[in-house]
Amino acid sequence: ATPTAIMVGMGKGAQEGILIKDAQSLELSKKITAVVLDKTGTITKGAPSVKKTYAAETSVQWQSILFSLEHQSEHPLAQAIVGFFNKVSLLPVTDFKSITGRGISGTINGEQYFVGNRDLMVEQQLTIGEEFEQKAEDWSKHAVTVVYLASATAVVAIVGIADQIKATSKSAVADLRSMGIEIHMLTGDNAWVAHSVADEVGIKHIKAGVLPEEKANYVKNLQKEGHTVAMVGDGINDSTALATADVSIAMGQGSDIAMDVAMVTLLTSDLSKVPEAIRLSRSTVATIR
Ligand code: ADP
Ligand code: MG
Repeated sequence: ATPTAIMVGMGKGAQEGILIKDAQSLELSKKITAVVLDKTGTITKGAPSVKKTYAAETSVQWQSILFSLEHQSEHPLAQAIVGFFNKVSLLPVTDFKSITGRGISGTINGEQYFVGNRDLMVEQQLTIGEEFEQKAEDWSKHAVTVVYLASATAVVAIVGIADQIKATSKSAVADLRSMGIEIHMLTGDNAWVAHSVADEVGIKHIKAGVLPEEKANYVKNLQKEGHTVAMVGDGINDSTALATADVSIAMGQGSDIAMDVAMVTLLTSDLSKVPEAIRLSRSTVATIR
């Protein structure tokens, strides 16, 4: 496209809340054949809240322990937990650690605790009691994300957290498909939650339980198959995949790191802006043909 056409295209984008960093990304967007979407914060609101709790009768302080550990974390799930248990007492935490794609750990009163998903419990060889397994499976089938709290040996409580799908996510997916684009969803969340969200918005290609670097590998594999790939994400955990994709799109209400890496930022964090951006590119590049 001519420099003028590109300038006009980028200006139109800006008016629609689609901020495009450079001319090249606008031109490339026209060629996109596959779009990879992160789930949490991209398809869903990423502002989940606590819906259910279940604890072992023997664990009296679990709420304070969970609250105090999550108080150290910036994950959306942590924010939901901190908001829910805001009346319990904050205990001092030492040795706080983030375990990428899995959860967190820390020491309280000389005892180590783990908070995170089922994979974390399995990896750390923590016992998951039968009653916890059953409740967790039941919640997960209803698209509730289960956060486990464990002592150094066993799970002592679980909390069920649910997120909401954004109003325009389903129509945006349908719109992209009508443009001949293949749609994929990636998430660090478990398969049950992933399937329930994917079914609701109409996505067939999904991968659950992925670590940040696996998100990037997934993008690479699509590229090897010959796809021109756009990655859409909101979090730090998406930044490697964003950097790998041919076109990278960040949600404006997401993390600063995602926006720094991305070529395109959607100010309103609205997924319907993705097909709009691709259409804009197609029409901009077509003007000069
Ligand atoms: P996603 O954005 O898809 O949730 P992440 O890599 O940020 O991906 O997290 C992957 C998973 O790790 C989460 O779905 C959650 O199960 C677990 N997790 C990460 N951080 C925390 C935390 N602070 N508290 C509880 N669970 C966590
Ligand atoms: Mg996310």
